[in-house]
Amino acid sequence: MQLVETIAEMRHVAADVRAKDQSIAFVPTMGALHEGHLTLVDEAKRLADVVVMSVFVSVFVNPLQFAPSEDFARYPRTLDEDVKLASGRGVDLLFTPTKEEIYPEYAPVVIVHPGSVGKEWEGAVRPHHFEGVLTVVAKLFHIVMPDVAVFGQKDLQQAAAVKTMVRDLNFPVGILVAPTVREPDGLAMSSRNRYLSPKERELGLKLSKALFAMHDAFVRGERRASALEAIGWRMLERVAGLTPRYLAVVNADTFQRVDNVRHGDAAVGAIRVGETRLIDNIIF
Ligand code: AMP
Repeated sequence: MQLVETIAEMRHVAADVRAKDQSIAFVPTMGALHEGHLTLVDEAKRLADVVVMSVFVSVFVNPLQFAPSEDFARYPRTLDEDVKLASGRGVDLLFTPTKEEIYPEYAPVVIVHPGSVGKEWEGAVRPHHFEGVLTVVAKLFHIVMPDVAVFGQKDLQQAAAVKTMVRDLNFPVGILVAPTVREPDGLAMSSRNRYLSPKERELGLKLSKALFAMHDAFVRGERRASALEAIGWRMLERVAGLTPRYLAVVNADTFQRVDNVRHGDAAVGAIRVGETRLIDNIIF
């Protein structure tokens, strides 16, 4: 596996790949890799296999998407481990730029605004978060020049915002959204899970349980969003040590709330346990 740190070298390698008529699949992450990220690599390899492939993973913690009060400084950084995991899973090139390489003057003047898709839910809890995500994804797309990029359903609103950006700004990149990878008990894998004490982990599990209960009710025929939301809320309210932030049924592309739930809509939720924020979703 090739390790690349600079934009110049990354562009050079990408141009070489293209000159050989090979295609590039790209998996952007913030590092602290786990099985959820590695299944995105599997998907990327599968896509790129069609035309000889290169898989890129960028492990880069993006300061632009963290508010001053958030956990940018303590976000787990485990580069040595990430290198082993990525290489073991067949990543061809690991792009690991520094903050200074991506933001030479720190904050860019021009940013990408997500519009309505980034306004509610995560966008409301974390103002400017999706501007940070879209701006760095746009930059990375221009640097890596992938044919296709793979994102996780775990961050469904992020995937919707990226798809909307690609559509509206005509990025020549296909976007694939891969299913959420869960622990055996249902907890969605997340780099932030390593912050959780055993007690907090138990509380964290209530979010996926609430989403599964909403899904079960949908399967049994319930189509009213308010009824499904009530089922989920009942499981998250008045639990000591757990603060629910939002739980709603939305259109998975626009992230606008729906009243009547259809196949393909999603329930999205966020909670806080101790100092850790957890998000999850389920598609009906
Ligand atoms: P992150 O660096 O954890 O913010 O995420 C990098 C990419 O991995 C994003 O596209 C995430 O949606 C995806 N991802 C993170 N956790 C999971 C998971 N448990 N299952 C599937 N994809 C995930």
